[in-house]
Amino acid sequence: MKKRLFTPGPTPIPETVMLKMAEPIIHHRNPEFNEVLTRVNKNLKYLFQTEQPVLTLTCSGTGGVESTFVSLFSPGDTIISVNGGKFGERWVKMPKAFGMNVVEIKTQWGKAPTADQILTALKANPAAKAVYLVHSETSTGTATDVKSMAKLIRENSSALVCVDGITAIGAHEMRFDEWGIDVCVTGSQKGLMIPPGLAFVAVSQRAVAMMESSKMPKFYFDLRKAVKSHADNDTPFTPAVSLIIGVDAALEMIRVEGIENVWKRHERLATALRAGVVGLGLKLFSDSPSFAVTPVWVPDGVAWKAFNKVLKGEIGITIAGGQDDYKDKIFRVSHLGYYDELDMIAFVGALERTLSTVGYKFTVGSGLAATQNAFLTMK
Ligand SMILES: *Cc1c(COP(=O)(O)O)cnc(C)c1O
Repeated sequence: MKKRLFTPGPTPIPETVMLKMAEPIIHHRNPEFNEVLTRVNKNLKYLFQTEQPVLTLTCSGTGGVESTFVSLFSPGDTIISVNGGKFGERWVKMPKAFGMNVVEIKTQWGKAPTADQILTALKANPAAKAVYLVHSETSTGTATDVKSMAKLIRENSSALVCVDGITAIGAHEMRFDEWGIDVCVTGSQKGLMIPPGLAFVAVSQRAVAMMESSKMPKFYFDLRKAVKSHADNDTPFTPAVSLIIGVDAALEMIRVEGIENVWKRHERLATALRAGVVGLGLKLFSDSPSFAVTPVWVPDGVAWKAFNKVLKGEIGITIAGGQDDYKDKIFRVSHLGYYDELDMIAFVGALERTLSTVGYKFTVGSGLAATQNAFLTMK
C-alpha cells in the first residue's frame, strides 16, 4: 500500500529535499553552512515578498509566534487578537500567559473576521500595540483577507499588523512590504515542504524598533539576537542544520516554479477539490475557503471513525479530523505544499471509494467528474 499524507502539517516532502537532508551533517560555524544560510535568507525574502529580515528559528511555528510576543511587547500591553479557531484561540491564551491585556475578537468557526469587527476593536482600544490575525485558520480552513485588514489597521491606528501565516505562506498571496505587514510567521512542516522543527519570522522596521522598548523576560526567543545574527547570515544558537539544508532545496523549488505560480497552483487545487466534494453532494464547512486546507462536513448517516478507518486502513490516506465542537463532524483535507492536480484526483477517487464502502448513496464518478471539469475549465 502506498501511504499518502493529506494533513495540514506535516505535509509531504519532495524527494530532492529528503536526499539533501540525508547528506552528512556539516558544522554551522563554517563557510559551507554560511553559504547555505545566505541563500536561504535571500529566498525567504522572496517567499514573503519582503526586503526585511526573515529570521529562521529552531522551534515549531508556535515558538515563532511566542518569539514575537516576548520580543516586541511588555507585560500589561494591550493587543487585539482574532479568534476564529484553534490557532486564533492560542494567540489569545499565549499573550495572556505573558501578562498582556488581550482584546479578543471572536468569530464563528468557518467565518473570517469583518472590517467592522476590527475597526470597532481599534476604536475601543486606541492603545492597542498590535492586531494579530490568522491568515489561514487551519482548524476551520478559513482565510482572512489580510491585505484589506492590514490597510484598515494601518489607516486607523498605529498598531502593528501581526500575521500567523503558518498555513498561508506558500498557499495564499503574501506581499509583506507592499501590504504593510509588521510580523509574519510560518513553520517548516506546512507550505515549506520539510519536516517540523523550524519557524520563520518576518519583521518590519517598526517591529524591530519596538524590540528596544520590550520589557518581557526572554532569552532564547529574544529576536534582537536573531536580527543581529541575521545581518551576518548567522544564527545566535545552533540551528537545526539538516532542516536548513532541506529548506534551502525546498525554497529553490519554489523559486524555480515562481511564487505567483505556487499561489495559483494552491488556488487551483483547492477550487477543484471543493468542486469534487460538492459534486458528491457533501457540504463545505468554510464561508471563506483557505487554499491550504479544505474542511468538509461528514455526511449524515456516516460515522467519522468508520469513514477514517477505511480511508486510512484500506486506502492508505491520512487526513485530519475536526477539533473541539467539530470533532467527528468535519474532516480536513490538506493540499498545502508538495501537491499537484493528480493528487486531487487521487484524493477524490479515494473519497468515492470510502464513501461507497461506508454506505453513503451517490453516483460513483460524480465527484471525479466535477474535479476533472473544474481543472479543465479553470484558467
Ligand atoms: C500548525 C499551525 C500552527 C502551530 O504550529 P506548530 O508548528 O504546530 O507549533 C499555528 N497556526 C496555524 C495556522 C497552524 O496551521
